[in-house]
Amino acid sequence: MNNRETVFIDGTTGEGGGQVLRTSLALSCITKRSFHIENIRAARPNPGLSKQLLSCIQAVCKICNRESKGATPGSKILDFQPGAVQSDDFYFHIGSAGSTTLVIQTLLPALFLADKPSTVTITGGTHNPLAPPSDFLCESFLPAIATGGFYCNCKLIKHGFFPAGGGKISINIQPWKKKPGRRIDLCEPGDQFQINARIYTAKLPARIAQLQRKLLLQSKLNIRSIQHIKVEDSDGPGNCVMIRISSSSRTTVFTAFGMRGKPSQKVINEVVNLAQDFLTSGASIDRFLADQLLIYMAISKSGCYITNEISSHLLTNMETIKKFLSVNFRVALKKGVYRISCFPA
Ligand code: ATP
Repeated sequence: MNNRETVFIDGTTGEGGGQVLRTSLALSCITKRSFHIENIRAARPNPGLSKQLLSCIQAVCKICNRESKGATPGSKILDFQPGAVQSDDFYFHIGSAGSTTLVIQTLLPALFLADKPSTVTITGGTHNPLAPPSDFLCESFLPAIATGGFYCNCKLIKHGFFPAGGGKISINIQPWKKKPGRRIDLCEPGDQFQINARIYTAKLPARIAQLQRKLLLQSKLNIRSIQHIKVEDSDGPGNCVMIRISSSSRTTVFTAFGMRGKPSQKVINEVVNLAQDFLTSGASIDRFLADQLLIYMAISKSGCYITNEISSHLLTNMETIKKFLSVNFRVALKKGVYRISCFPA
């Protein structure tokens, strides 16, 4: 493979969603390789560049001093040429409830590999369905990548629930220092589990949290405490229920979102089932963290974890990463869980 060649990305790969492009943007900045992508979000009902992806493209262009040429709403094709990544204090305003955490997901790898620390402050959605909530980012994802030497501080300044958004999050990124032998090694299942729940409500009647609390207590999980956070300064209504599973070494965060017309019982069933499947499996890493850790394992060309589910996001991310970096992934099924490891190609 000629490392200067433009990488060709087919957006129909696997999941066929926005993650193919976000991963390509992140790895293009790191490897300094241009890419050409076609069939962007081909598998989605409204294919092409979404607002959310446009925010990611604009943010990446800003950190590497490029113009986002050709990035127009609905476009199914993009040519991207990376520039040199600058460390700085960046401020991005996504508007409405575009996901701040997905922009962070896109920028982080490049900023970790820059020579100085950076701060990124973003306004938009912090609690959006189908994206990592800020609690997941700060309490589960960042501590997990820190085990591989990727250090970040994260601060939620204002909650922004979908669809109104208007939240604010700030993150401080330290340059990654490669050290021999340091790798993301999360292959040991946790022990001494403690299960806690968190209910968020904003601009909603008190009975919603009361019912969700009752349903959580009736669930099969042995929940130690339930925290209700009533968000007073939200731009619009919002409700989500989180289950936090802490072990001696890790925190796992599962989330289900309430919305108009969706019964609370359904919200609770969703989040309880995710937690229950994870707990009974003996896995160390949940299905969401599983796809998000791969880039960091690929950067250090090493690492492993055990997950209870192989999502199409996970397989798609593996394929996209291999287009840019000389790594391979191994998926080994043992006793009903999957051991994922990364090694040089
Ligand atoms: P689209 O594909 O429609 O453009 P998208 O780009 O927003 O949507 P995906 O490509 O589906 O989204 O990627 C979503 C990302 O968000 C994945 O990395 C997934 O792990 C993460 N994610 C989704 N839901 C959660 C959750 N509840 N907790 C943590 N992470 C989540």
